[in-house]
Amino acid sequence: MNVRRPKGTNDILPEDTGKWQFIEARIQKLCRRYGYQEIRTPIFEHTELFARGIGEATDIVEKEMYTFRDRGDRSLTLRPEGTACVVRAFIENGLDSSPLPVKLYYLGPMFRYERPQAGRYRQFYQFGIEAIGSMDPFLDAEMITLPIELYRACGLDGFQVQINSIGCLECRGSYRDTLLRHLEGKADQFCHNCQSRLHRNPLRILDCKNPKCRELVEEVPPITDYLCPECADHFGQVKGYLDQLGVAYEPNPKLVRGFDYYTKTVFEIIVPALGAQNAIGAGGRYDGLVEEIGGKPQPAVGFAVGVERLILALGEQSGIDYAEARPDAFVAHFGGRTKARAVEIVTGLRRTGLWAELDYLGRSLKAQMKAADRLKCKWVVIVGEEELEQNTVKIRNMATGEEQGVSLDQIGAFLTPAGEEQGT
Ligand code: AMP
Repeated sequence: MNVRRPKGTNDILPEDTGKWQFIEARIQKLCRRYGYQEIRTPIFEHTELFARGIGEATDIVEKEMYTFRDRGDRSLTLRPEGTACVVRAFIENGLDSSPLPVKLYYLGPMFRYERPQAGRYRQFYQFGIEAIGSMDPFLDAEMITLPIELYRACGLDGFQVQINSIGCLECRGSYRDTLLRHLEGKADQFCHNCQSRLHRNPLRILDCKNPKCRELVEEVPPITDYLCPECADHFGQVKGYLDQLGVAYEPNPKLVRGFDYYTKTVFEIIVPALGAQNAIGAGGRYDGLVEEIGGKPQPAVGFAVGVERLILALGEQSGIDYAEARPDAFVAHFGGRTKARAVEIVTGLRRTGLWAELDYLGRSLKAQMKAADRLKCKWVVIVGEEELEQNTVKIRNMATGEEQGVSLDQIGAFLTPAGEEQGT
């Protein structure tokens, strides 16, 4: 049998998990400072949640969901995104009775049946935040500054922020008519996908990546010309806050995003150097979603960052201090009574907070030294018959090759010189 991982999924190996933990630690720190608390929702939900929340006529719902029937004949779907799940949990658990806005963050895998390529997977991780219960345009600005701070804390630069406002349902209604007037005459020139979107979801045509479609929408007036006074004022305030905070951004009137739930502000953060899949984060306001999913109306805003893409963008950028993955000590022994002593020593060292390894394969001393070297251990603690009798061990400094006899009760102190922090 030769079973391989499913197409579009990744094994994150120990050599890379240091990077993930590095990013996760920064996420936790940042969310704490901004007052976002973690929420963990199920990996699968009732299909209806996404069909209603994300929108029936979106690519995700039409083509990309992992949907299955369970043994009770319920239609379930592996979550393709986090917002609908968080909103469902917000309603179901009565979080609207907590002080508003409710500020939540999540981190976990999402699933979309997309065509895999560099930076695009069928299982990928998103870190996202959602602030539910406030219209304040400063929150929209916060959704942009928080991921930027995360990128900076991870050592990333070279990203660009694009923003737009797609207005409320009313503004969109009048813009839709304008769009159709401009596009209908050219319907047969659009790509197959856009032709089928024309009447169901014409706004999505604006951000089709097909060069011909792009050319065709070139002359379409910007949606921002059709905003109602309230939406225009809101967008003006969001930009005002970004200016005040010194955040550089580029207005992009063609940016519409792939979810139906967005209202007013939408944004995307891109790293042009990444090529085709260059968005490392995106989000926007979704003032109608809580009601759509069955809750009392609450305005809300959020974003999601793709963790794999962030790691790709970071590349091999130097200056990042990932947790060093190397043991402090390897305890070598010769079996029998020396192993019993080695077991005591390794347990004691672990209790003091050191990363200590032991030979589990009954190898010769030479082979154990080799193993310790391959693991990049800082020290090897050798327990021989002679040392056993004298209640000592020999400790070898793997960097210098120096060896020294140390009494049993001094091993911990010897390996952790005063002032040095124990356990990494
Ligand atoms: P979205 O949920 O589509 O707004 O995407 C938010 C972010 O998630 C994007 O900016 C990407 O960084 C990341 N992302 C979305 N889809 C994928 C995917 N199929 N594979 C990897 N990352 C993705």
